[in-house]
Amino acid sequence: FQSKPIAGRHFLQIPGPSNVPDRVLRAMDNPTMDHRGPDFGLFGKQLLEKVKPVFGTKGPVIIYPASGTGAWEAALVNTLSPGDTVLMCETGQFASLWQEMAQRLGLKPVFIETDWRRGADVESIGERLRADKGHSIKAVAVVHNETSTGATSRIDEVRAAMDAASHPALLLVDTISSLGSVEYKHDEWRVDVTVSGSQKGLMLPPGLSFNAVSDKALKASETAKLPRSFWDWKPMLASNATGYFPYTPATNMLYALDTALDMLHEEGLENVFARHERHGEATRRAVRAWGLEIQCEDPRHYSPVLTAVRLPEGHSANALRAAILERFNMSLGNGLGRLNDRVFRIGHLGDIGDLQVLGTLTGVEMGLRVAGVPHKSGGVQAAMDYLAGNA
Ligand code: PLP
Repeated sequence: FQSKPIAGRHFLQIPGPSNVPDRVLRAMDNPTMDHRGPDFGLFGKQLLEKVKPVFGTKGPVIIYPASGTGAWEAALVNTLSPGDTVLMCETGQFASLWQEMAQRLGLKPVFIETDWRRGADVESIGERLRADKGHSIKAVAVVHNETSTGATSRIDEVRAAMDAASHPALLLVDTISSLGSVEYKHDEWRVDVTVSGSQKGLMLPPGLSFNAVSDKALKASETAKLPRSFWDWKPMLASNATGYFPYTPATNMLYALDTALDMLHEEGLENVFARHERHGEATRRAVRAWGLEIQCEDPRHYSPVLTAVRLPEGHSANALRAAILERFNMSLGNGLGRLNDRVFRIGHLGDIGDLQVLGTLTGVEMGLRVAGVPHKSGGVQAAMDYLAGNA
C-alpha cells in the first residue's frame, strides 16, 4: 500500500522489519501444503535441524506463528511461577516492555536502571546475584541487542557474572533484533531460553518467533506454574519430534525461513556477522563526520545492527524522518519511549550490501540539509572511504 505514487524502490531502513530478499519472497510464493501430510513431516524435520546453528545450539528450537512478543511470553510462562523474582536490566524501551510483561504475568521483576546509552550493566547483575544468598532470583533476563538505543549487551559477560556468583538462576536472552546478524552462542554461553523473531536478521517478514531451550529450562518447565496453553513447549516438542506442529503452522513463512537459512549458511555466519560489523562502523563514521552524537556511549556495546543518532537540542528527529520519507522515499526508525523525537535510528541489518548502506546514508545527509538540522557535510564520504578501503 502506498498513499501516493512515487518512483524508485522504497528504502526500508528501520531496524526491522528488514528488507526481505527476492529469493525469500519467491520461496513464500509456493502452494501451501497439507500440514498433516507426509511431505510436511519431512520438510519440518529438516527445517527444525537447519535452524539450530543460527542460535548456536544443538538443542530444540521452538517456532511459534507469532511476533517476538509472543516468544517473550513463552520464555517466561514455561519456566517461572507466580511471584518468582526476575532480574532484568533497563537497557531501553524493549527491556522495559519485557519487564512490564513480567509484572502483568504476576512475576516480580527487579529492574536495574541504566541511562539507555549502553548495554546491560554486568557489574550490577553480579552484585545483585551475590547478594541473593537465598537464591530468590529465579531468572536473569537480558535483551541482547536493544533496538531502541543501538546497544548490544555482552551475554558472555553476563554468563561469567552469573558463574562468578555461583547463582543457579536461569538465563533468558532476547535476540529478536540480533539473531542472524550478530554473533550468538546459545550453548556456549549456557543461555537457557533464547527468544527471537523472524523480521530482522533472519530476513523474513514479521510473523514467526522462536524459543531455543536448554535442558535446564526444560527441567524448569516441568514444575513452572504460570498458566500456559498456546505457548506450552510440551505439545510443541512432542509434535516437532516428527516434524509437525500441534496447531496449524505458518506454512509459507516456514518455506521462507528454510530459504533464508540457506542464504545465511551459504554466505557463512562468520561472514554475515563481519558484514554487519563493517556496516555499523561505516555508519558511525558518517554520524561522527556530520558532527552528530551516537546514542550508545560505550564503544564495546556499539550495535552492528542499527545506529541510533541523537539530534542537537531543539531539533526534531520526527520532523527529520518525515522530511526524508517525503523527499527521498526512505523510512528510518523513530525514537521509542523516552527517546521519542530525540533520536532517529538507521537500520543496517539483514539483507544489506555496501551500496544500500551508502544510499541510506546519502538520504540521511540530504535530509539533514532539507530539514535544517545543523551538521557538517562529508558523512557519506567518510563511509565511502572506510568501505572502499576495507573489503
Ligand atoms: N525485543 C526487541 C529487542 C525488539 O526489537 C522487538 C521488536 O522490535 C521486540 C522485542 C518485540 O517484538 P515484536 O514487535 O515482533 O512483537
